[in-house]
Amino acid sequence: FNTDRFGQHILTNPLVAQGIVDKAELKPTDVVLEVGPGTGNLTVRILPACRKVIASEMDPRMAAEVQKRVLGTPQQKKLELILGDFIKADLPYFDVCISNTPYQISSPLVFKLLSQRPVIRCAVLMFQREFALRLCAAPGSKMWCRLAANVQMYARVEHVMKVGKGNFRPPPQVESSVVRIKPLDPPPAVRFEEFDGLNRVVFSRMHKTTRACFKARGVKEMVEKNYRTWCAMSEKIVEDDFDPWALIDDVLSTTLVPAKTLDEDEIRPAYGDMRAAQLSGNDLLELLAAFNTRGVHFA
Ligand code: SAM
Repeated sequence: FNTDRFGQHILTNPLVAQGIVDKAELKPTDVVLEVGPGTGNLTVRILPACRKVIASEMDPRMAAEVQKRVLGTPQQKKLELILGDFIKADLPYFDVCISNTPYQISSPLVFKLLSQRPVIRCAVLMFQREFALRLCAAPGSKMWCRLAANVQMYARVEHVMKVGKGNFRPPPQVESSVVRIKPLDPPPAVRFEEFDGLNRVVFSRMHKTTRACFKARGVKEMVEKNYRTWCAMSEKIVEDDFDPWALIDDVLSTTLVPAKTLDEDEIRPAYGDMRAAQLSGNDLLELLAAFNTRGVHFA
């Protein structure tokens, strides 16, 4: 029985299982998506609290197990199974997602949930501790990173509880944490690919200035390619002496960090002199907008 292939660490502590379900604040009318129900320790607690559970499970033996568990109970007809890889599945409508997540799909799982339309109300998810802390990291903190910037642009994320290894069978190698993600509704009008494209550049070296990050191999070429596409689409002629670096450097030097209300006298630095570690989500948006107005795109 290979538990590693599917990341099968069954949550055995009933208090933790109930705590996770309670955090979802389910309504009797909710449709809940559960990713990786396993033997159904969460499923049997979700079912009585909602209208319907759609369970996405990759391992047919586990799918059979969870179905067997509700067989002949009033909950049986409220459970629908989608067999196969969650990441590739076409998802039906659901309000809330709950999952003791297989850790190998943590990142794609989060982004798949954020791109779901209509926007879901919330997701309560178990992750590897390190991943959970990165998701929740505040701008400027030690764990602030591209993942946090991307996710926090589209959702509020909170750390809900720590879960030690001993609560699982077999125990995983790492500690775990539960987080709650509440997507912003309506979602901000920022194209994910653009925002992530900028973040890819500025978070490539957390402790170098954004100007230095833009000097990394391939960035100038990417900017130039996208600039030419943008010009073609907006029927603009590309200057003969077009120099992508001059354009990048100009945006980075002339776009200033907005004045903070408290220290108005402070000299406002340009974004080019800031490090990714110092930039907030709002700063990243300002910088992206400044680039976009000048025809610099990241996707
Ligand atoms: N939720 C159960 C519990 O709390 O006891 C088991 C959780 S176990 C960590 C992860 C579960 O996700 C396993 O049942 C595994 O078969 C399933 N799984 C792994 N990868 C998956 C994927 N890509 N799509 C859907 N299910 C997956």
